[in-house]
Amino acid sequence: CGIVGYIGHREAYPIVLKGLKRLEYRGYDSAGIALYDGQDLNLCKTKGKVADLQALLESEISTAGQLGMGHTRWATHGVPNDVNSHPHYSNSGNLIIIHNGIIENYESLKKELIKRGYTFQSDTDTEVLVNLIEDVMTNEKVKLGKAVQLALNQVVGAYAIAVFDKTRPKEIVVAKLGSPLAIGIGEEEFFIASDASPFIEFTDNAIYLEDEEMAILRLDKDIKIRKIADDSLVNPYIQKLQL
Ligand code: GLU
Repeated sequence: CGIVGYIGHREAYPIVLKGLKRLEYRGYDSAGIALYDGQDLNLCKTKGKVADLQALLESEISTAGQLGMGHTRWATHGVPNDVNSHPHYSNSGNLIIIHNGIIENYESLKKELIKRGYTFQSDTDTEVLVNLIEDVMTNEKVKLGKAVQLALNQVVGAYAIAVFDKTRPKEIVVAKLGSPLAIGIGEEEFFIASDASPFIEFTDNAIYLEDEEMAILRLDKDIKIRKIADDSLVNPYIQKLQL
C-alpha cells in the first residue's frame, strides 16, 4: 500500500500517477486519485491496478488540478472493491483523505458518529476517520490542522494520512504513526509519499516524519511540524537525498 500527494504550481496528475506506479512494489488491491483545481474535484478509484485507474481517469474530460492525492490500498477493513477504495470523503464532501494503516477503535467511533447523524458509504475505518475530523471541525470550530490533531488523539491504531479541505485549496495536512511518510520540499510546492521515490526527480530536500508527528503543508507558508499528542512545534529536519 502507498500514498502520494502533490500541492504546488504543476499539474498534479502526472506526478501522482507516476508516484503510484513507483510505489506498486509495496503491494495493493485497489487504487485511487483525487485531483482538485480549487473548484472542481475529480475523484476516481477502483479495485485493481494503477493501470486500470489510469484508463478510467484518462477516459474522462479533465485531469486538471494542482493539488492531487493518490492511494494504493491493502484492504484491512472492508473487502477490496470500488467503494472501499481511497480517497474517502466526509459527509459534507469538503474533506478528502487517503490513509495507510488501521484505525483499531473505528467501531466505537463510528457508532458515535452515526448517533450524531453521520452516514457511511464504505466499510472502511478510513471513512470513520475523515468524518471524525469533520465532526471535530464543526463542533470545535477549528481549522483542518487542529481538527486532525484533536481527532487523532481519539484514535488508536496506525496511520499515514493526507487530508485536504476543499475550502482551503492551498493546504494539505499529513500525519504519521507506524506507517511511513516522507515530505519533499520544493519551491512553492510540496510532495508527499510513502518513500521518496515519487518525488526524487523534483527535489532533494526531504523530511521523514517521525511517529506521532503531523505537518501542515501550506503553499504561502513554511512547513509546520507538530507533535500530535501535545501540539508542541518540532524543528523540521530536512535531509538531502542522494540523487
Ligand atoms: N485500513 C484502511 C482500509 O482498509 C487502509 C488500508 C491500507 O493501508 O491501504 O481501507
